[in-house]
Amino acid sequence: MDVDVVRELYGRGHLIEPDALDFTKANSEKIMHNIAKLDPGRDSVLTLSKLREVAGDTHGDYKILFSYDESFELKGGVEDFLSYFLSRYQKISNFLRNRPELDGVVSINKTRASEREKASLIGIVKEVSATKSGHYLVELEDQTGEVRVLIPKGSECHKLAEEIVYDEVVGLSGRTSKELFFAQDVIFPEVPQVEWPVQSFSTVLISDTHVGSNTFLESAFHNFISWLNGEWGAPQQRALAATVKFVLIAGDLVDGCGVYKGQLKELSIPDIQEQYGRFSQLIADIPSHITVIISPGNHDATREAEPQPPIPTLFASRLHELGNVVMVSNPAYIMLGDVVVLMYHGSSLDSLINAIPSLRKDGYDHPEKAMQLILRKRHLCPIYGESTRIFPETEDSLVIHKVPHILHMGHVHSFGAAVHRGVRIINSGTFQEQTPFQAKIGHHPTPGIVPIIDGAGNIKVIDFKEQDQEPGSS
Ligand code: FE
Ligand code: ZN
Repeated sequence: MDVDVVRELYGRGHLIEPDALDFTKANSEKIMHNIAKLDPGRDSVLTLSKLREVAGDTHGDYKILFSYDESFELKGGVEDFLSYFLSRYQKISNFLRNRPELDGVVSINKTRASEREKASLIGIVKEVSATKSGHYLVELEDQTGEVRVLIPKGSECHKLAEEIVYDEVVGLSGRTSKELFFAQDVIFPEVPQVEWPVQSFSTVLISDTHVGSNTFLESAFHNFISWLNGEWGAPQQRALAATVKFVLIAGDLVDGCGVYKGQLKELSIPDIQEQYGRFSQLIADIPSHITVIISPGNHDATREAEPQPPIPTLFASRLHELGNVVMVSNPAYIMLGDVVVLMYHGSSLDSLINAIPSLRKDGYDHPEKAMQLILRKRHLCPIYGESTRIFPETEDSLVIHKVPHILHMGHVHSFGAAVHRGVRIINSGTFQEQTPFQAKIGHHPTPGIVPIIDGAGNIKVIDFKEQDQEPGSS
C-alpha cells in the first residue's frame, strides 16, 4: 500500500521531494483519492506543502475562543474602575469558594464582631507590607469593609504571604479579633489539574521578534523559516518541522517607534509601516499549510492599555492579507484541535518580578516562575497599573476564567518552560539580541531559542543561532 502511492506518482510523471516522502506514505489513501487534482505538467516536482494540499491537510482546525474587540463606550471614569474591580472580585472569588480550605467564608464586616473565632475571608488586597519584625500585614477589602490581617513570622503560611501582591483577590483563613485578623493560611485560587489531549500536530511558540531594531537577529529568524520549510536542521529536527500546523506569535512583532527614549538610534527601520512590511515579508515565507496566530505586545501599534485589540489593518495591511495569518487580541484564548491555548504578551511580568522577593533574584532568567504564580492567582496581571496599563472594562478579561493546556507568554526575552498541574507554561524568548539597555540592567536574553510542543505535549527546543548546519539537501 505504502509503496503504491509513491510508484503511482512516479508513474504519472511526478517526482517527490525527499522530505515529503514520509508524509506521502503516511497519507497514501488521501493522496490516492485526490490524485486527479495533480497536473503532471505543472506539478512535476511535488513539495511537502503541495502534497499536504492534495491530502486535504491544509489548514489546521482551530477556533478563537476569546479575542477582545475595542469598546468605545467606556472613558475610564470612577464607575468604570469600580465595576472593573467588582468583576475581578466576583470571578476570582467564585474559584476560591470551591476551595475546601475556605469553608464558611464570612464577609469582612463580620470579622470584628467576634473574638478568637475561626473564619475565612475572601478579599482584594489593598496593601501588603512586611513589618520590621518580619510579620506580614495585609489590608483586605470586600464590598462590606476592610480588615487588617496579620500573618505572623514563623507561621506555616508565612512563605505564601511573600507571594501576595496588592490588587489581587486572595483567600485567608484564621481567627478573628477586634483589632486584627490572625491568618493561619493563605489560599490562592489555583488551577485544577489538566489532562493533555493528545494531537497529531506540533505547535511552535515565538514572540518578541522586534523587527526594525538593529539588534533583530535576522540570520536566526531565516534559519527558523527555513526549518519550517523543511530546509534546515538535523534529520530529527526536520521530521519535527513536518508535524507543525501552528505558529503562535505572542507580541512585540516589531520594535515600534518612540516606545522608549532614544529608540531612534537603535532602529534599522525607523518607520512603523515599513517595520510591519518587513515582518510580513518574513512571515510570508512560512508554508501556507501552517496557520500563524498573532497577538500584540507593548511594542506593537495598537492601544497600549490591556486588553489590547488586534494590530489593525491600518498598520499591518500585508499581514492581514496573508491567507494563513490570524490576528487576535492580547490576551486571547484559542483552541488548536483540542488544545486550549492562552496567549498573553506578559508586560505584567515586570511588576510581579519586582514585587516578589523570591522572583527579584532570578525572575528574568526564569520567567516560568512568575508565570506559574499567574496561573495560581488566576489573573494575567494581578497588580493593577504599575508596569501595565489596564483599560477598566466592565468585565475583567485578564482573569484566567478557563484553564488552558498551554500558557504562552513573552516580553522578558528569556526562554523558560515548566509544567504546572498539567499546564504547559512557556515563555518563548525572543529574536532580538541583548540591547545596550538590557546589558545595563543585567538582563540576559536568549535569542533564537524556539520552543515547540509536540502532539504528545512534550516541550522541545531548537536553537536557531547555530551556524554550522548544512542547508537543505534537496
Ligand atoms: Fe519584547
Ligand atoms: Zn514586550
